[in-house]
Amino acid sequence: MPEFLEAEISASALEPIIGDRLRSIDVRHEHACRGSAGDIAELIGASVTDIARRGKVVVLGFGDRSVAIRFGMTGRIVVDGRSPIDRLEYESGANDPAWDRVLLTFDEHDVSLRDQRVLGSIEVDADLSALGVDVTEVDAATLAQLLGARRRQLKALLLDQSVIAGLGNLLADEVLFAAGLSPRRATNELTPAEIDALHRACETVIDVQRTRGGSHTGDLFPHRHEGARCPTCEGSLVSATIGGRTSWSCASHQQ
Ligand SMILES: [Zn+2]
Repeated sequence: MPEFLEAEISASALEPIIGDRLRSIDVRHEHACRGSAGDIAELIGASVTDIARRGKVVVLGFGDRSVAIRFGMTGRIVVDGRSPIDRLEYESGANDPAWDRVLLTFDEHDVSLRDQRVLGSIEVDADLSALGVDVTEVDAATLAQLLGARRRQLKALLLDQSVIAGLGNLLADEVLFAAGLSPRRATNELTPAEIDALHRACETVIDVQRTRGGSHTGDLFPHRHEGARCPTCEGSLVSATIGGRTSWSCASHQQ
């Protein structure tokens, strides 16, 4: 599933369209455009002024208007026929143009949202105010405050986009693995040293996996299957459903 690293890669691939004028929009699936189709037609003739990312969402700015792109489970951006994302966890690896759900044609470039499962979408002037602090901007003090605010399972809080925006299932597992913390820990019972370890793990995992190229490049990722051993301590890796998603963690070193 695309997480903030994939959104970041997509935002960067979209940079060539800054300054380009939108010529037409073709929405090919009813679920691929949130809000009114009329809103999006109003943007024809407008030029892209900036590209931003908020959590897992990419936002194309058109002056005081905007188009938010959400990637759902299998969405990817394709610019001039090329996708910057080569592999996503939940899709077959095939990159089929039949899955193009929205096509934006600019004077110089073409952009499509290619999405097998159609859980991604575009939305004009989306209200993103419900998103929490971006994962790349969480400092240790803010993290301590968010964790202590109320009692929750640690993994569920990391996945809650209204608290911290950007982490998905894979990155959250990698951060907890690197921090040596169980996904089931109660957020308000972490010690200051554990919160520090979590913050450091978050920064390290982001830096390393950004360099490697995405949320599927973590140290734990190749071992997310029954019977696997921990690549760090040889302990048993176990799975559980937390926050509605399958979590993998080490039964030995993640406490
Ligand atoms: Zn381990």
